[in-house]
Amino acid sequence: MEPVPAADEVVDICRDLLRIDTSNTGDPRTTVGERVAAEYVAAKLSDVGIEVELHESAPRRANLVARIPGADRSRGALLVHGHLDVVPADASEWSVPPFSGEEKDGYLWGRGAIDMKDFDAMTLAVVRGWQRTGYVPPRDIVLAYTADEEAGMEYGSQFLVREHADLFEGCTEAIGEVGGFSYTINDDLRLYLVETAEKGIDWLRLHAKGRPGHGSFVHDDNAVTALAEAVAAVGRHKFPMVVTPTVRSFLEQVSEALGVELDPDEPELAIAKLGPIANLIGATVRNTANPTRLEAGYKDNVIPGKASATIDCRTLPGQAEIFLEQLRGVIGPDIEIEHISQQGALETGFDGALVEAMGAALRAEDPGARTVPYMLSGGTDAKAFSTLGIRCFGFAPLKLPADLNFSALFHGVDERVPVEGLQFGVRVLDRLLQAS
Ligand SMILES: [Zn+2]
Repeated sequence: MEPVPAADEVVDICRDLLRIDTSNTGDPRTTVGERVAAEYVAAKLSDVGIEVELHESAPRRANLVARIPGADRSRGALLVHGHLDVVPADASEWSVPPFSGEEKDGYLWGRGAIDMKDFDAMTLAVVRGWQRTGYVPPRDIVLAYTADEEAGMEYGSQFLVREHADLFEGCTEAIGEVGGFSYTINDDLRLYLVETAEKGIDWLRLHAKGRPGHGSFVHDDNAVTALAEAVAAVGRHKFPMVVTPTVRSFLEQVSEALGVELDPDEPELAIAKLGPIANLIGATVRNTANPTRLEAGYKDNVIPGKASATIDCRTLPGQAEIFLEQLRGVIGPDIEIEHISQQGALETGFDGALVEAMGAALRAEDPGARTVPYMLSGGTDAKAFSTLGIRCFGFAPLKLPADLNFSALFHGVDERVPVEGLQFGVRVLDRLLQAS
């Protein structure tokens, strides 16, 4: 293959994107930068002759979709997606201004550098390179740049899937964020984690009701007491372990690479020995339920008639209903459960031509690469796209320095992406898309 000109351009594009403040505050009134970023992306695409469609779900909540026709249009299309919004950053905590796109010490710094303007930039650099040389990919590539991934996806991928599903017609597979990055075992072996599964999200509100009354009386029907008991029970409860095929495969391969003994019945003992990677996988062997908010009362000497709490629940593939039964057992029959937001888990096999092409593309650029499937405990736009029957993978390739604590950079202070890693990523992505 010819040397890829995209490797030169990707850094400039990534820097430009980092300089556009696309902070998603969760409040539509203050989340305004997505439109500017979408217009930038649209210009980069139309500049090389790619037709784009911009769809606003609300004023300035812009989503952009483009389709690049492939050589064989009868084949299923590949969706390549990235979100343009970022979580807010508190500049006082950072070593550089978070929207400066500064380059120093071999890194590009800025909010969104790894989540996920790096991948947005890679996709743009790759297809711009193609257009300049007249290259036609083997099958249709659909590019999607979304709003609102960081605050529930309602104005982004969920909106696109609900209102503009036709744009994704024929898409059979997708690649997006949180996968394809390296984890160094030694000089000759790097594991590249490919996301093949995501836990589901179920945000619940628990409601306790009681008899309101005076704080000085004997009172045996106190809503605050009932709610506190339920919340404490949930917060302390360890749900049963369930090891899905993705997690089993991950644990086997990582344990073998690290020479760590794996007892399939006690995977948490092995996970504890995996070092920084333990963070990533720790929450993927069980359903979890973490209390996050409490609300009750309005005066120090008044017992309120009701109290409520929010529980952030994350469920494994196939476990959503079983989990609710288990939760009911933990909180007892008298607490009411309200579903605030629900998004299903997903899991696909680590097989097929696309998965093989990921491994081949990585090995061509890094002979020490070995791909490993894993489950993300969080959620991405893949949740929405998978509802269209698309097989979703997290594959935004990055070669990382061995000592970089990558998972801490997500939504973290001093988020940054290694420049060489970014250029490596664009070469791998170019190879993958050409081979897919
Ligand atoms: Zn992200």
